[in-house]
Amino acid sequence: MKKAISFVIRYIPRPILQTVSPMVMKVLSQLNKGNEVECPVCKNQYKKFLPYGRIARENALCPSCLALERHRLMWLFLQEKTDFFTGKLKVLHVAPEHCFIERFEALPNLNYITADIESPLAKVKMDVHSIQFPENTFDVVFCNHVLEHVDDDILACSEFNRVLKPNGWGILQSPVYNLEKTIEDKSITDPAERERLFGQRDHVRKFGKDYAQRLRKSGLKMEENLFVKELPAEKVKRFALAPDETIFVCRKGN
Ligand SMILES: [Zn+2]
Repeated sequence: MKKAISFVIRYIPRPILQTVSPMVMKVLSQLNKGNEVECPVCKNQYKKFLPYGRIARENALCPSCLALERHRLMWLFLQEKTDFFTGKLKVLHVAPEHCFIERFEALPNLNYITADIESPLAKVKMDVHSIQFPENTFDVVFCNHVLEHVDDDILACSEFNRVLKPNGWGILQSPVYNLEKTIEDKSITDPAERERLFGQRDHVRKFGKDYAQRLRKSGLKMEENLFVKELPAEKVKRFALAPDETIFVCRKGN
């Protein structure tokens, strides 16, 4: 089972995975019924979540809404630390995650725009290097697990900074490794070599502990938020969160 999931994640393109997987997951969710863990996104309870990842980690993927640890944490953060569910906000969501789209679209307080260069899940076709919206357009920008794929992560962030309103904020998650400095080499295009160096066949860099500092070059203000540390241990276990995950919150800067 773990091996099969690793294989699927590695070789089947994500857009296809996102379209097909809900049907498969429905069957899997029936097999995991229980009440040991709870998904804050879809509110379903299970014996445990499904394994997920290239080196499959246990208790990660919600079989109902496909939320992972990071999605469950982001949902709780939005609920407890922001006015996302109540404020009148214009939101740009780049490469929207399956578990969030319908739920955010249904929020009456939001003017919610999904955008991506290729994902069939997004409504607007958009290149993060050249965003077609005028400056000071959005109250909130989300762009998760994108910046490790794009040609110029700093340029993309300066575009987010431009389109954010003066009090605008966002969340910019990426895989961050235990390296002092981000590794990047744009001359490497071979997928196998990219996987060896950057962790995945379509990654063009591997972010290190300088992630927030690096993104500040774009003009954005970056905060390394450890919201998960404020949560009681029972909640971290109940929602199956990653106990050390940092949320990278950005705010419009200069
Ligand atoms: Zn769920």
